[in-house]
Amino acid sequence: MSLLRTRGLSRHFGGLIAVEGVDFDLEEGEVRALIGPNGAGKSTLVGMISGRIPPSRGTIEFDGVEITSWPAHKRIMAGMSYTFQITSVFPGLPVRENVALAARRRVPQGEVTQAVEAALARVGLGERIDQEAGDLSYGHQRLLEIAMGLVQRPRLLILDEPTQGLAEGEVAQFKALIRDLAGATTILLIEHNMQVVMEVADRVSVLNFGEMLAQGTPEEIRANAEVQAAYLGGGDAA
Ligand code: ADP
Ligand code: MG
Repeated sequence: MSLLRTRGLSRHFGGLIAVEGVDFDLEEGEVRALIGPNGAGKSTLVGMISGRIPPSRGTIEFDGVEITSWPAHKRIMAGMSYTFQITSVFPGLPVRENVALAARRRVPQGEVTQAVEAALARVGLGERIDQEAGDLSYGHQRLLEIAMGLVQRPRLLILDEPTQGLAEGEVAQFKALIRDLAGATTILLIEHNMQVVMEVADRVSVLNFGEMLAQGTPEEIRANAEVQAAYLGGGDAA
């Protein structure tokens, strides 16, 4: 059984078709990359999956249960965590408090301190636990967001362009983290950096003009002529 399954999932904004008729399946334990040109509908698709954007049509199942109309917090409680494309930390709060807030709905009270420390250590921010989040570099704030997802002990972790704006060393750290999580957590990763996709993804899905264009292993996707025409030849992706 798939961990996540969408059928006919669509979202229109007025006359604009952002996502149209997407059937999407994720198997438990896999690392799936979601790629596609800017404006293809990637963020809208994961917005619907995570419960922040109501679909115009279609259904979403998580672990065999239909969750199409569930609010976002209920999906988090069920084990679905996500990080936004836009940074969402509270800059005035210490790093520790940001992660503790994220832990609130999933982690028993008595385990929060330890869970927060473990999540921050995992992304390499253990030393910065008492700093104000707003004092961290942009790259460290992105890693903090991943810790905020991880602390929720997700069964499915959705990451929307996590490496955007990261320095090279931080990207390497991110890749190591994904490899470390692989198998234990199902990961859906929206990613523009094809090198990261090739190195960490088990399978790749390609969205183009709101529709699923192709799905396959990283090698299959890289060799797919339609994908090359729509995306990989486009310059900023490669
Ligand atoms: P991607 O993440 O692949 O770059 P998005 O899902 O952000 O693409 O956007 C898909 C399309 O939907 C784009 O044309 C975008 O302008 C449009 N769109 C996204 N969100 C909104 C919104 N809240 N209102 C109107 N149009 C939107
Ligand atoms: Mg996006």
